[in-house]
Amino acid sequence: MDELSRMCIHTVTTKPWDIETSIDEYARAGAGGITVWRDALQGRSIADVRRRVADAGLSIVSTCRGGFFPSVEPSKRQAALAENREVIAEAAELGAPLVVLVCGADPKQSLDDSRAQIVDAIAELAPEAERAGVKLAIEPLHPMYADAKSAINTMKSANDAAERIGSSAVGVAVDVYHIWWDPDLEKEIARCGELGKIFAFHVCDWRVPTRDFLLDRGLMGEGCIDIPKIRGRVEQAGFNGFVEVEIFSTEYWSGDQSEFLGRIVEAFKMHV
Ligand code: ZN
Repeated sequence: MDELSRMCIHTVTTKPWDIETSIDEYARAGAGGITVWRDALQGRSIADVRRRVADAGLSIVSTCRGGFFPSVEPSKRQAALAENREVIAEAAELGAPLVVLVCGADPKQSLDDSRAQIVDAIAELAPEAERAGVKLAIEPLHPMYADAKSAINTMKSANDAAERIGSSAVGVAVDVYHIWWDPDLEKEIARCGELGKIFAFHVCDWRVPTRDFLLDRGLMGEGCIDIPKIRGRVEQAGFNGFVEVEIFSTEYWSGDQSEFLGRIVEAFKMHV
């Protein structure tokens, strides 16, 4: 497999494009895979999207995203489970083998309580995901999101949760943006590999300074993350799947997306 064919792009990376344009342009650029954000499916027949992706010669790597499990209110936890069942069904229909989970947190309760609710919820969904042929990846998020987006903030925390759930359908999505700073990274990536739970690998870069907590991710090579080193660890730990480019950036979204995709390809060759 040539190097570029291991590149997968998240539809959110080129957010101004509709999914049809994204599929065609990613394939033309030489990417091998696409990760579909659910908002890109709005108003589409999932079967049509699946066919178009296959016709373009791309693999569907995952869908983003499920999760947001914890709440002080039991009714909201139930609603989250129902929503995630839909996400799993949608992934199966789309032919996506994996759903990425942004696990959630409720600032009205402790992070420990949120973590316990996350483990319970995923444990409940795991057998259903397994039956649907879809895996679930817990994505640890940078601790700046611990208030309301995710109570799972390190590889250790994600590994612990996946290990406790104990289902072959549940693993971890390693995103360099969220975990690059962690002094235990090497050890926990190795552990995740030993558990057979590295399900996905996401790349972008950490800009210095970062001007927005959500929408200022950098192109690979533009920031301070040693992406090749982390990729090396992940691959040493046994991962040989797609390397997924996931960039949220109001700056890049405001420019020409074809030119941006060209820069992604160059950055992927040089800095990943
Ligand atoms: Zn990610």
